[in-house]
Amino acid sequence: MPRSIIEPFRIKTVEPIRMTNEAERRRFLTEAWFNPFLLRAEDVLIDLLTDSGTGAMSAEQWASIMRGDESYAGSTSFFRFEETVREIFGFQYIFPTHQGRAAERILFESLCKPGDIVPNNTHFDTTRANIENTGAVAVDLPCVEGRNPGIPFPFKGNMNVEALQALIAQVGAAKIPLVMLTITNNSGGGQPVSMTNIKNVRAVCQEHGIPLYIDACRFAENCWFIREREAGYASTSPYDIARELFSYADGCTMSAKKDGLVNIGGFLAGNDAVLAKAESRLLILTEGFTTYGGLAGRDLDAIATGLREVLREDYLNYRIASTAYLGRRLTESGVPIVQPPGGHAIYIDAGAMLDHLPATMLPGQALVAELYLEGGIRAVEIGTVMFGTTDEGTQLEKTAPMELVRLAIPRRVYTQSHIDYVSEVVADVYARRHAIAGMKIVWQSPPLRHFTAHFERCESVASGSR
Ligand SMILES: *Cc1c(COP(=O)(O)O)cnc(C)c1O
Repeated sequence: MPRSIIEPFRIKTVEPIRMTNEAERRRFLTEAWFNPFLLRAEDVLIDLLTDSGTGAMSAEQWASIMRGDESYAGSTSFFRFEETVREIFGFQYIFPTHQGRAAERILFESLCKPGDIVPNNTHFDTTRANIENTGAVAVDLPCVEGRNPGIPFPFKGNMNVEALQALIAQVGAAKIPLVMLTITNNSGGGQPVSMTNIKNVRAVCQEHGIPLYIDACRFAENCWFIREREAGYASTSPYDIARELFSYADGCTMSAKKDGLVNIGGFLAGNDAVLAKAESRLLILTEGFTTYGGLAGRDLDAIATGLREVLREDYLNYRIASTAYLGRRLTESGVPIVQPPGGHAIYIDAGAMLDHLPATMLPGQALVAELYLEGGIRAVEIGTVMFGTTDEGTQLEKTAPMELVRLAIPRRVYTQSHIDYVSEVVADVYARRHAIAGMKIVWQSPPLRHFTAHFERCESVASGSR
């Protein structure tokens, strides 16, 4: 019999979580206007709001923190960081930044101008916003399978290569300063991109002289999926897969808050000497000198250690297996989720689960509220609250294509019993799903309204169908 995949660590420091009862949670949620972003973290039992910056550092990383060299220029910690990034990612010019979006801003401000077009498999929201901030247009070109939540496909994060070719033919390569690939594809459900797809995108870019950049936030998780699912990689180490993968790119942006296994940090890397000059100017202007880029020396040291730990096979095996485990438990209870599970999160199809609520009654937000009331779990709506808009004149809601709820799993934080508890709570909410009332927005401040909006329950459970 195959044995359980265990957490590949034991626990040295613990952080107590405060138990709450349902009456308390009802009060907290009402005071927070039914918006999980407005809850106090101490009132949350299991926090699945995001996997960004919420991971646990290892003893070795805490040792790195103590070792951190805080010299303004040329710190030892910077060189440890630079050497590690250069070894794994292979790029020549490496700039630390305070987080991923700062790397994006510096890259796009250096490369893009109004009217340019930047394709990606799917742009993450900060990536899109930073591209649009330069006057350029961000275009999503996901593969066909990636648009369908129900069907399993091993590499749903792939880019549609034919669509990329068609776009280049239509607008001309001169209008496309770079092509991006996000691994794993966060907005598409944490779905991986295959090595074959990366090579094919690379070939198209090369043919037209367009640089290819990787949004590398979850690169290690993507490498594990390549090893598990792509022919020819079963006995290649995640480290070697990463080295090959980045050899096809001209540069990358990275949020170390994900697969850097730290709570803050990021970087921008590439091989173009002329571009690097422009980037370092912006970096010094807005983030800090090139050997710290808005981070403390200790942060750089912890990233260097984290980037090696994240590629360990036992870590990645546990990481991907524990996300899949939650997906399997929910599926066994009948809960509809995006299939197959991605690397860092499970996405519940709230539109299908609460099929008595039309999208305008915000089924995702209603489910988020119930998960908190039932078991103190904090999740986030990825649907009409996040991507929809209210027409100022008619007050009608333009709804999103899907109504999802994301359960993001912080790295090395929760044990299997926490995950079991989560699946039990979701199953209990599922059992009484048709009694759940819809929600409405009573105050909002676009853009990015989901962070601050206020909600109320609709008077009755919705009548009628979607
Ligand atoms: C988190 C994330 C970013 C932005 O990084 P921050 O550190 O949050 O600024 C960019 N792209 C993807 C795919 C991400 O998940």
